[in-house]
Amino acid sequence: MKLERVLVTSAWPYIQHILHLGNLLPILSADVMARYYRLKGYDVLFVSGSDVHGTPIEVEAVRQGISPKELTEKNHERVVDLFKKWMISFDNYTTTESPVHKEFVMNFHRKVAENGYVFSQESELPYCPKCKRFLPDRFVEGECPYCGYKGARGDQCEQCGRLLDPTKLINAHCSICGSQPLFRKTLHWYFDLPKFADQLREYIANNKQFPDNARNFSLKFIEEGLKPRPMTRDSDWGIPAPFPGAEGKTLYVWFENVLGYISATIEYFKRHGDPDGWRRFWFDKDAKILCFIGKDNIPFHTIIFPALLLATHEDYNLPWNVSTNEWLNFEGQKSSKSRKIGIWIDEALKMFPADYWRYTLMANRPETSDTNFTWKIFLEKVNSDLNDTLGNFIHRTLTFINNYFDGEVPKPGRLDKIDREMLNAINEYFRRVDGCLSGFHIQAATKNVIDLAREGNRYLNEKKPWKTIKLDPQSAATTLYVSVQIVKALSVLLEPFIPSTARKIREFLNLPGKMQWEDAIVPLEEGHKIGKAKPLFEKINLSEEELQEMLEEIRALEEKVSFEEFSRIDMRVGRIIGVERIPRSKNLLKLTIDVGMADPKVAVAGISKYYRPEELLNRHIIVVANLKPKKIFGIESEVMILAAQHDDEIALIQPEKPIRPGSRVR
Ligand SMILES: [Zn+2]
Ligand SMILES: [Zn+2]
Repeated sequence: MKLERVLVTSAWPYIQHILHLGNLLPILSADVMARYYRLKGYDVLFVSGSDVHGTPIEVEAVRQGISPKELTEKNHERVVDLFKKWMISFDNYTTTESPVHKEFVMNFHRKVAENGYVFSQESELPYCPKCKRFLPDRFVEGECPYCGYKGARGDQCEQCGRLLDPTKLINAHCSICGSQPLFRKTLHWYFDLPKFADQLREYIANNKQFPDNARNFSLKFIEEGLKPRPMTRDSDWGIPAPFPGAEGKTLYVWFENVLGYISATIEYFKRHGDPDGWRRFWFDKDAKILCFIGKDNIPFHTIIFPALLLATHEDYNLPWNVSTNEWLNFEGQKSSKSRKIGIWIDEALKMFPADYWRYTLMANRPETSDTNFTWKIFLEKVNSDLNDTLGNFIHRTLTFINNYFDGEVPKPGRLDKIDREMLNAINEYFRRVDGCLSGFHIQAATKNVIDLAREGNRYLNEKKPWKTIKLDPQSAATTLYVSVQIVKALSVLLEPFIPSTARKIREFLNLPGKMQWEDAIVPLEEGHKIGKAKPLFEKINLSEEELQEMLEEIRALEEKVSFEEFSRIDMRVGRIIGVERIPRSKNLLKLTIDVGMADPKVAVAGISKYYRPEELLNRHIIVVANLKPKKIFGIESEVMILAAQHDDEIALIQPEKPIRPGSRVR
């Protein structure tokens, strides 16, 4: 069966943080396949986007004291820029806040409800008495009742992948304040998933492409009995639930982000003046929907997403494959932002070029079991595979042609057995890489490309053109003719994995930037003029410990405030012109301060333990004047006063002599 049209997608990353290398795997894998299909001449569209809704975002925004919108707009801009630097070739990378997405999702769910697959039901959900809010999914944490994992969330256990019900969590607590939640009644809307059990079982069992991990997990999931899934949340950050009576509730992220694959396709075609173009991917039966995900996302892509598509009665294409990666650990541990374990995608690029990482990640892609990122492996991949094997072979070949054949592909003489075997090997490796990629065995494909370069080195060492050039120049010409064909093949085969390097090799070879997959095995003709070759990689002469230190140094620099940020802080001299105790508060004073502006400013400061009001009156102090106002005990605090603290002692910072209020501190 020949593929002609493929929609390549990668799971939408939550962007409460910048991604770590493990989070990048589905995106990078999708990019490799999108590039491969484009080389094959298929009609390819590669879409994804930032998932800006959902509780991880809300939890992080609460932690940073900013709105979810502010947090996600800032991070979305950063990841868009980073994905460019990582050479991720999205056709459309959007967000779940896109108006096209929101409109599509609401219409979609209205349809699902009209078709009778949505019902409302009162249920008891965790409620934090201290935060005064319901605690949807990640707002509640506890111990997984199945595997005992301590950090399980209200909706899912990251460890065993099971979908959870917050009432089942052991020792549940609010993830913001740690309080034990109460269970309160609230009305929610449910998707009637059990109605699709038979169709889903058949869909999964008959799907030939699904990797074993996705198929086995999904069939077991159905066997254990499908339950109606809550679709709504008591949360105001998200897409409004479009059901009558559900005002004030939003859709659970997994009932909208997977629909982003469709809305991002719609958005792409709208932007390109072809508003119906998306239908070719989602309804034409020869089009394939290919999803790349991490293993915690399996049930949403093999169960919930297909069931939603079926629930429209509109004959949407269901995912054709769900290529699922296992976990990538860092030096044997799970990546964790708070514990500073792992490498983040911005840090990685500050250390080494994207292709070093792309190659290492794909050569170590966790396909059938978890794999481990270690500095040792990274050094091996970069120094031995990229530098010594690939870079060295290409550099030797091209430099030799430049030095001895005037930069022209030499005319071969009679081919001996070794030459013929080498030329056959190019075709053989081409077929192997092609076979691996078409079966989604990206790790094996990567290995085969490097093995071809390894064969090339072995061939050169056996033929020793640096000797034969003097004794038998015709033999040297044949050797270099054969070698340059390997370089040519590599310049195409490497494109999906390390596109910047592939482009450089094509520049050296004087070949066009755009190539077709089959060009890999079309020989360069004798007399073809090549360009000068430069080293493709730099050997890393650092130990594992030094690499870790380098990473930590980059991190430490990040944490420093830049001069620019510091100079944005508006510090001024103020004179305290009023002091009042704040009723009900033990430690707070309300200070009225003349800061040289038209109106005096108010500061709420926790210093009544240290100063009597009359002691403070008329003092000159230093304030930060351009902070966002903050309500404390019902009083708006507009400026902050500066003080030094040691244990239980406090000293206000004061100018050395009285100076006009409003004077800037520099
Ligand atoms: Zn578990
Ligand atoms: Zn709480």
